Amino acid sequence: MAENGTGDRQHVFDMPKVELHVHLDGAMRVKTIFEVAKQRGIALPLKNVEELQCLCTLQEPSCLTDFLSKFSLFMPVIAGDRKAIKRIAYEFVEDKAKEGVAYVEVRYSPHLLANSNVDPMPWNQEAGDVTPDDVVQLVNEGLREGEKVFKIKARSILCCMRHQPNWSMGVVELCKKYRSDGVVAIDLAGDESLTCETPVHQKAYEEAVRSGIHRTVHACEVGPPSVVKEAVEVFKAERIGHGYRTLEDPVYYRKLLDMNMHFEMCPISSRITGACCADFKKSAIIKFKQDNANLSLNTDDPVILNNTVNDDYAVAQKFMGFTVDDFKKLNINAAKSSFLPEKEKEDLLNQLYKAYGMMVNTAL
Ligand SMILES: [Zn+2]
Repeated sequence: MAENGTGDRQHVFDMPKVELHVHLDGAMRVKTIFEVAKQRGIALPLKNVEELQCLCTLQEPSCLTDFLSKFSLFMPVIAGDRKAIKRIAYEFVEDKAKEGVAYVEVRYSPHLLANSNVDPMPWNQEAGDVTPDDVVQLVNEGLREGEKVFKIKARSILCCMRHQPNWSMGVVELCKKYRSDGVVAIDLAGDESLTCETPVHQKAYEEAVRSGIHRTVHACEVGPPSVVKEAVEVFKAERIGHGYRTLEDPVYYRKLLDMNMHFEMCPISSRITGACCADFKKSAIIKFKQDNANLSLNTDDPVILNNTVNDDYAVAQKFMGFTVDDFKKLNINAAKSSFLPEKEKEDLLNQLYKAYGMMVNTAL
């Protein structure tokens, strides 16, 4: 296996999986980026898909800021193009179905894919006619069509961006508008090492609480424990994206364990972003596992990491001591911590119990 776990594509858990933390704009196919660039006449600094793959992929541990800078390579190709936005959503479902994912919550910033009604204009695009609202509709259509064809369930989470607080109220309004069309939650993403305009994001999250919109927050990926505290106490997060550095505050960590807080963990991504130790055998994830934390294993940004969810499971098995029983347990925890309505959650759980040869739980 290559050091980042993506070498031999082995499947260590060939059963239905639940993935809760993956970015749509970090999961598009390189081939699609290449084709769309050609169609739109956008010049890319390379000749073929392989070269583009190399340019997009980070192989060695770096920092979150470097990692996020990769997005500026390919986002301008897809942003502002209706067909391309719908296409990446549809293809995403196809890819997840192939990886054996039964249920996925995929997240993205509608503003980062828009070229109208968005200030500041992302990626130096010319003004166009694709608003953040249009982006959500297009993604919803792509996901819905993908679900029908590939027979898995896909829901979406809309992201606020730490460095763009003026988008956040728009994000929560879109969550409310499209809650019956597949949008299940709000997220706060972006670079934690930037200072965050807490009051504006806080207002958006207060509106989410008031409106019954589920909430997750990227916290303690690279930021200190104060970020996870803020996520839980101020933003009322029901799940934490990553959360590794919570370990630096053992009292608060214990509190989150007692609350059964769900941690969306991303083994390969967090090695490359430098959020976790470069040596998988010393990853913070191991401590969470040993303490029976409620966690899931996720890909985060496959276009940059060149990983599938099976690669992350392989790494967890090979270097972190996860067994098949651990994988079953964490997927059941992920299903329970998903943002599906209760009845659909129960159906998903029953699907997993059946596939895992476990008793069907009728009293959720
Ligand atoms: Zn993430």
